[in-house]
Amino acid sequence: MNRRRFLTTGIRASILAGIGGAGAMVASKAGAEQLVWQLDPAKCLQCGRCATDCVLTPSAVKCVHVYAMCGYCDLCGGYFKPDTKTLTTAAENQLCPTSALKRKFVEDPFFEYTIDEPLCIGCGKCVKGCSSFGNGSLQLQVRHDRCVNCNQCSIARNCPADAFSRVPLSKPYLLKQVNEESQAAELTGKKGSSDE
Ligand code: SF4
Ligand code: SF4
Ligand code: SF4
Repeated sequence: MNRRRFLTTGIRASILAGIGGAGAMVASKAGAEQLVWQLDPAKCLQCGRCATDCVLTPSAVKCVHVYAMCGYCDLCGGYFKPDTKTLTTAAENQLCPTSALKRKFVEDPFFEYTIDEPLCIGCGKCVKGCSSFGNGSLQLQVRHDRCVNCNQCSIARNCPADAFSRVPLSKPYLLKQVNEESQAAELTGKKGSSDE
């Protein structure tokens, strides 16, 4: 190949590579959806690292309540310590270290449990209690009104259950439940009170 032919071939190859690269970039921009970190409650072991390993304090991981799964129990395994004798809201009876889980009488014998998100530190104690003695309706989730979507989530790096993955921004919640779509929509629509 003489010098002239070599240069022409090289320039053509560069142009083609440039077009290919630009095309791939456009395709990836058009097709790619932003991804966010989320944990799978079905894998979570409630090890406590969601409370301690987030770059934020308190953590971006919070307890959320899947009401469709809840039994509205009087004796709630997520609310009361296992050795509680009297089912009252006294602080010493509560599993939650910050009193973030609230109990409200509905009608005999049902009680509703809600989470005060600004108080929740994502320790998972209520989740463990609810999973062990109840229906598992209390679950941990990364709350996206708070999470800064680190390149590498520091909780994900240390999670012993490998429960974290990146999920599409359009479906940012993973829940163990019967009516997942409506609950996820409720979480997505609810501007979290955690940044109040
Ligand atoms: S670090 Fe993993 S196993 Fe531990 S509480 Fe978080 S999601 Fe669950
Ligand atoms: S026990 Fe832990 S995870 Fe559950 S509401 Fe209280 S602070 Fe949040
Ligand atoms: S991505 Fe960052 S801010 Fe979000 S949960 Fe993980 S460590 Fe916390």
